[in-house]
Amino acid sequence: MTGRKTALVVSAHSADFVWRAGGAIALHAEHGYAVTVICLSFGERGESAKLWRQPGMTLERAKAERRQEASAAAGHLGVADLQFWDLGDYPITLSEASLYRLVEVYRATQPAFVLSHSSKDIYNHDHPAVTEFAQHARIVAQAHGHKPGQQVLGAPPVFLFEPHQPEQCDWKPTVLLDITPVWSKKRAAIECMTGQEHLWEYYTRVALQRGAQAARNSEKKITYGEGYESVFPHVVERLA
Ligand SMILES: [Zn+2]
Repeated sequence: MTGRKTALVVSAHSADFVWRAGGAIALHAEHGYAVTVICLSFGERGESAKLWRQPGMTLERAKAERRQEASAAAGHLGVADLQFWDLGDYPITLSEASLYRLVEVYRATQPAFVLSHSSKDIYNHDHPAVTEFAQHARIVAQAHGHKPGQQVLGAPPVFLFEPHQPEQCDWKPTVLLDITPVWSKKRAAIECMTGQEHLWEYYTRVALQRGAQAARNSEKKITYGEGYESVFPHVVERLA
């Protein structure tokens, strides 16, 4: 531990952290946080449709391209530690060994906050499975009886990414983050996702929408925003 603040992002597939949390990552990286991003899979089967239209595509080639795209995006966002666990997708395989591996990451990094997917997603079963997995690992990392003597995890807040179709996933934005100062970094990261070009403008519209909503709920001039759903109650010193 260097005394530097940290954050942990648990992403099911290798592009999710870009669309859903790129602004939060870039913003906190600019403020000195060491952000760890774990891509549990590459999304090589389920989120690489454009790649699969290329003749001769293989799982290994799809993974290599997805790794390259995510690495370039992470560079724009200022990610301190980008990890690829290659657990497969559609369906993702979340073993007990992987759970304990994530517990180790929690304890080693001691994140100030955690980002992961929505709790429900009727269009994508990997996403909520990863949220459950990330939450379970967080709880094990807090358990004093797990590897006694290691520093246990405190109580980092957990914020859930905006899913692709929020209403169908019972997800509500309870936190709106102003990402206007880092929008150019997020857009540059988005443009690294050449296999999913159809989503570039979609997620730009989402950012504008959340920005307008953030401005409406504050007295601030905000153009671009990211929405999150907070899992736990916020503990505050004053209400305003
Ligand atoms: Zn995904």
